[in-house]
Amino acid sequence: MPAPTSIGSPQSVKLTIGPYRIKPIPTGVFGLDGGAMFGTVPKVLWEKTNPADDHNRIEMEARALLLDGGPGQRILIDCGIGGDFVAKYGEKFGPKFAEMFSVSDTSSVEKSLATHGLTTRDIDHVILTHLHFDHCGGATKADANGKLIPTFENARYYIQKENYDTAVRPNLREKASYYAPNFEPLREAGVLEFLQGGVENLLPGVSVQTTNGHTHMQQVVKVTDGRETLLYCGDLIPTSTHVRLAWVMGYDLDPLTIIDEKREVLAQAAEGHWTLFFEHDPYADAARVTASKGDYQVTERLSLV
Ligand SMILES: [Zn+2]
Repeated sequence: MPAPTSIGSPQSVKLTIGPYRIKPIPTGVFGLDGGAMFGTVPKVLWEKTNPADDHNRIEMEARALLLDGGPGQRILIDCGIGGDFVAKYGEKFGPKFAEMFSVSDTSSVEKSLATHGLTTRDIDHVILTHLHFDHCGGATKADANGKLIPTFENARYYIQKENYDTAVRPNLREKASYYAPNFEPLREAGVLEFLQGGVENLLPGVSVQTTNGHTHMQQVVKVTDGRETLLYCGDLIPTSTHVRLAWVMGYDLDPLTIIDEKREVLAQAAEGHWTLFFEHDPYADAARVTASKGDYQVTERLSLV
């Protein structure tokens, strides 16, 4: 679906931060209920920027991010839904799942890496913001015998321990988003690193900070060299339309908490001229923002090339 004319085309920008070339890795497009994506915001408002299909679903990208610092320093943040629905979820659940969420496999993490001349073997670190299926499904794949194994053969995977604990025993509200086949094979293979809270310089120039409004202990990822700063927003700010403080998802566990968390991040982003990277925006990779009348608004949408 093309972007509505009210949004306009994003500006193409090449971005390098410290040792890292910044490379968006689209992994596929899916659809989620527009009402659920915008919580209490009426459809007459959100449909101007995010038109719905005939099942009221809006288009969502599952956009991972590669921080490419060359061999030994390639960091992937999140990895999309992943294919192999039948292998992962069983005969009955597989195709149903793809249909319900309108999952299209026009791209995949493998195909996107290939456009940069890379394969899954070239990834050294995978930072998972949280274990909802649209963020970590690509972390596991089926081998020739149908056994689920880590997708990125040589990588360490980083997740907040408390988010993992939530994913293993999900509450009723989030049960449909946490699937063990996406993360238990990582733990079994011994490649999962558990983090306890925010970490400065987890990797050179790369820090994680935790947020709790969307789910318990999500981690967003900040990349900085002291001059340029990029924040991978995960589900804290899933699209550029969600920059406005009160535009939060019906999926969020605690709307008032996420509004406070957004306010804190957006104040720093506006002040520091940060690039905010959006995992789910169908029309732009990233944006820059400014403060406006007690709220925040997008000043420019970016396509990172
Ligand atoms: Zn989520």
